[in-house]
Amino acid sequence: MKLRLAIFIVILLSACNSRQVPYQQRFYIFGTLVDISIWGVSEKQAVLAINAVVRDFQRMHHAWHAWHPGPLDDLNQAIAAGKTLSAEASLLPLIRRSQTLYRQSDGLFNPAIGALNALWGFHNDELPTDRPPPPDSAIAELLARRPGMDDLEIHGNSVHSNNTSVRLDFGAIAKGYAVDLAIRRLRELGVENAIINAGGNLRAIGRRGERRWRIGVRDPNAVGILASLEIDKDESVFTSGNYERFYEHQGVRYSHIIDPRTGRPVSGPASVTVIHDNGATADAASTALTVAGLSQWQRIAKQMGIRYVMLVDEAGTVYMNPAMAKRLHFETEKLPKIEIMVNG
Ligand code: AMP
Ligand code: MG
Repeated sequence: MKLRLAIFIVILLSACNSRQVPYQQRFYIFGTLVDISIWGVSEKQAVLAINAVVRDFQRMHHAWHAWHPGPLDDLNQAIAAGKTLSAEASLLPLIRRSQTLYRQSDGLFNPAIGALNALWGFHNDELPTDRPPPPDSAIAELLARRPGMDDLEIHGNSVHSNNTSVRLDFGAIAKGYAVDLAIRRLRELGVENAIINAGGNLRAIGRRGERRWRIGVRDPNAVGILASLEIDKDESVFTSGNYERFYEHQGVRYSHIIDPRTGRPVSGPASVTVIHDNGATADAASTALTVAGLSQWQRIAKQMGIRYVMLVDEAGTVYMNPAMAKRLHFETEKLPKIEIMVNG
């Protein structure tokens, strides 16, 4: 009798271990909710891994914040004063990576334009619903100084800028870069199946048991999911949208994505979604392609090595390349107007 009870308990425990739902945890960082789902390891292992990732995220959040005091703010102050600074270690690969993506995007992804972002009022934790845009003269003055990522030079740990108007703001790449580091950490800790989802921007690895991970892409013009797709082994899906952070004045919407060529918020697509195996590239590209807009996204996507792209405009029309069309399953009641555009 005792033996039978013991066998029953063992079976019950192993049933708990091969749980049919992923282990999940949610926390708030980088100004957004982050969900981590882990499949295929014990709960104890999952908790350890998630705790490690949360600690990493907290460090990155502090080190890379664009307007709170911390290592990036120290570097920006040194640059403004024309000084060379021995920068915090995690900033160096982030700067190098951003320089490559800046060049590939013809400067449309430009984390050196932090002063413009601040001028437009986006370096605030809370945005006012209504505020006037800055004067044209102030925008023109900053544009004329042409801040760019090629102004930065790194020697060892020392960073120097040849242009004191450079002010770094990694808002367009930080989440993707952080998610890449977090996936690396999970793998070090034995996790092979997981999703790290930072406010709809995510990287997924492995599978959910027998099935692939299935994820949703938010509708920029409505509440809910526009489309869903299945993740192939290890992929990142990133969306940039002018609906994420904005304010309005006299009926005009000013979004947080700035066109470095004009110094003004983009008025182009409502959202751009890209799939790429690397999170940092996907993040930077989704922002760059939002700036590129309908007329130039194909060239920039090609230069950045992006195979899958979807743009949605404010009328709800979906533009995508044939590769993306094969991946997406639309979830809306009525199919949107779709235009397939061939990559350049
Ligand atoms: P994302 O949501 O990834 O498109 O990133 C938008 C954020 O990136 C903004 O909130 C700014 O912090 C920053 N940003 C705005 N415009 C640009 C740009 N053209 N290049 C790089 N970063 C930008
Ligand atoms: Mg981005």
